[in-house]
Amino acid sequence: MSNPAVKLSEAEWKKRLNDEQYRVTRTAGTERPFGKVYEEFEKQGEGTYFCVCCGVELFTSKEKFHSGCGWPSFYDASKAKNVVERADNSHGMIRVETLCKRCGAHLGHVFEGESVSAATPTKRRFCINGVALHYVPAGGKAPPLLQLDDKSVSDKKEAVAKEAGVEVRKP
Ligand SMILES: [Zn+2]
Repeated sequence: MSNPAVKLSEAEWKKRLNDEQYRVTRTAGTERPFGKVYEEFEKQGEGTYFCVCCGVELFTSKEKFHSGCGWPSFYDASKAKNVVERADNSHGMIRVETLCKRCGAHLGHVFEGESVSAATPTKRRFCINGVALHYVPAGGKAPPLLQLDDKSVSDKKEAVAKEAGVEVRKP
């Protein structure tokens, strides 16, 4: 993964996420198919899907389709282009993993040329873990983008200035 903009320690992610969200997004886990989150996904109408870790837009309901595979399926990422793809040869399979470009969260995989996606414009199936997504219905408020901790940045600036012998004036 090429340098995501948002980097937190494992402990910090654990604090922000529930156990299942952490397992899937930070340790490349897979949720159980046809679970509660999937049932909810199937019922959701128009809206946008954001990264559960960092709040960036990943998918919209426009690219959603019913694949019957038991995980949320999209035929394309949203126009926001925050989904990156990389080769995944784990578990003895050749697959393409999908991740959040901003924070490196594992989202799922993307498959091509299957019969279930043959009728879609891209013929691709983004097979995404529902727990990696934060759904906001159309017209709803987007979640806040996770920012790097401002305090750690200012502390660092202060330390650097001290080392350089510059006094940092505090308000
Ligand atoms: Zn993210």
